[in-house]
Amino acid sequence: MPLIIAAQRTPTAEANVPHPQANRQPPGLAYPDPHVNGAPQQQAGERIGVWWNPRAGRGVARELAERTLAEAAHRGHDAALLASDSAQATRSAAEEAMAKGLDRLVVIGGDGTVHQAIQVAAGTPLVVGVVPAGSGNDLIAALGLDTTPGAAIDRALGPSSAIDLLRVDDRYGVTVATLGFSVAVNRRAETMRWPRGSAKYTAAALRELAGMRRYPLILDVDGRRLDVAPNLVAFANTSVFGGGMKIAPGARPDDGRLEIVVVGPASRTTMLRLLPKVRAGRHVEHAAVSVHRGARVVIESDETHEIRADGEIIGSTPTEIELVPAALQLAGYPVAS
Ligand SMILES: [Mg+2]
Repeated sequence: MPLIIAAQRTPTAEANVPHPQANRQPPGLAYPDPHVNGAPQQQAGERIGVWWNPRAGRGVARELAERTLAEAAHRGHDAALLASDSAQATRSAAEEAMAKGLDRLVVIGGDGTVHQAIQVAAGTPLVVGVVPAGSGNDLIAALGLDTTPGAAIDRALGPSSAIDLLRVDDRYGVTVATLGFSVAVNRRAETMRWPRGSAKYTAAALRELAGMRRYPLILDVDGRRLDVAPNLVAFANTSVFGGGMKIAPGARPDDGRLEIVVVGPASRTTMLRLLPKVRAGRHVEHAAVSVHRGARVVIESDETHEIRADGEIIGSTPTEIELVPAALQLAGYPVAS
């Protein structure tokens, strides 16, 4: 069960609580300075849950959560801390928060924590803000959001815009769904305590290269059939996966479609040459890589292959991956049109 470890109530007008979208930023405008004239421009009176995982972020998460809570209270919001130490408990906390009529959920954590939040927030008006803590922050990297605590908290409490999500059955993903070599690398990285951060994925990729294989698949992308045998496929809502690898450089989370990047079949030598190019997204120029776009992909395969998104298992082949447009209200991401 989720544990509410602290709550700070601030006196706010209970009547006429603004809808969370009431102060939404029109597309294409620069993010406003919330401290113009010395006072926050964000409308007060939102009900906000600040949600953190005591096991993540090596103690940093708690500090960020308390700082976020203090800033929310300072801006006149009705904010409370929520803490939970497992994926299931985290989701339960979000469900409880939704039932209580929360306007906004600020998650302190990385892609895994955000992944749990969106399972509850998808398709609802609940605004999700992200203050990065811990290691995996591909969402933050892809969206170009700030990682310094002050700026991240400011954005997480600021205006929101809708972004797309991807979905496999009833599971949502926010960054990139992937299968093949990338999943093997992800699985390997989970078992490694060292190195940390993006170096972990590089080390895991080098270790997995020896056992790299092909994955014969039929991909039906909006009715276009691709008969392929790649080493990996990425179905991208955002551009970055694997701790900073720009696997789908053209992916945008607000254009209503997935960028599908098919890598291989390639030899180990070719893959070794491609790996460093992925960091800058230059791998897509290689003949062994093809890029497709679409809103719905049916994946046929004789074998069962695990599909991961945001580092979490979200399904397995054969299956379908669907892009759900404007499914999530994300704070601090004004989408340029
Ligand atoms: Mg897109």
